[in-house]
Amino acid sequence: MKPISRFAPSPTGYLHLGHAYAARIAYETAREKGGTFLLRHEDIDTSRVRPEFFAAIEEDLKWLGLNWDGEPLIQSTRIAAYEEVLEKLKSMGLLYPCFCTRKEIQATINSISNAPQDGAEQTYPKTCHRMSQKKVDQKIRNGESHSWRFDSEKAAEIHGPLTFNDLERGETGIDISINGDVVLARKDVGIAYHLAVVVDDEFQDVTHVTRGEDLFFATHVQRQLQEILGYREPIYRHHELINDEDGNRLAKRHDSLAIKTLRERGFSPAEVLDMI
Ligand code: GLU
Repeated sequence: MKPISRFAPSPTGYLHLGHAYAARIAYETAREKGGTFLLRHEDIDTSRVRPEFFAAIEEDLKWLGLNWDGEPLIQSTRIAAYEEVLEKLKSMGLLYPCFCTRKEIQATINSISNAPQDGAEQTYPKTCHRMSQKKVDQKIRNGESHSWRFDSEKAAEIHGPLTFNDLERGETGIDISINGDVVLARKDVGIAYHLAVVVDDEFQDVTHVTRGEDLFFATHVQRQLQEILGYREPIYRHHELINDEDGNRLAKRHDSLAIKTLRERGFSPAEVLDMI
């Protein structure tokens, strides 16, 4: 079977060398075997997306010679599809409403943990999972805003032991404690990354998910979702990230390493691809 890969940037800034590296890996994964390379704009976080970045990303990719097949998929046009999947998960009893604010979650974590306070590493303490149905109904009746969280333990009871195959790290067993009960429908935008990415990888018949190793742990919950929804399992390749000269991860604020800047400074596509 010919590979289908994708590059899935969020249009929240200009592409930098790190993105070019990710895009090149996805491109080569497909092209080396005569497969298909897709582009997907992950624009559901409307608070951070800016319209000019869609075209800027496409322009940079074309300039680099990393041409994709077909029309790019734009996630904001797929809300109905994501909502349908959310309904399905709700009907399976795998989502529960969460009324907590970030602040409340952090306070709960601080009160139960003696570990170094590093909020980013902590999972949701399941506060709303313990809430009585009566209280939940009351809050919903009162119109209290809420997200929807994935009941990862209940899901694991349904799907049993699970693995994913990563071309860098090999067969990896799913550990549900890594992500805990993630949000699949955000309070503000109604959808969350883990849901949209899983639904779209299936929708676009993606066989090879190549992306930075910062998303390696995200795969644990994404595999759970695929299994629960009866989706196909892609092959993964979580590649290393490109760092700046100080060894820090590249971010969109690194304007000097933006493809656009390098282009304007007179570098050729080959020279830029050489840098990575
Ligand atoms: N949109 C995500 C990002 O820009 C990538 C998602 C993925 O490759 O799964 O980091």
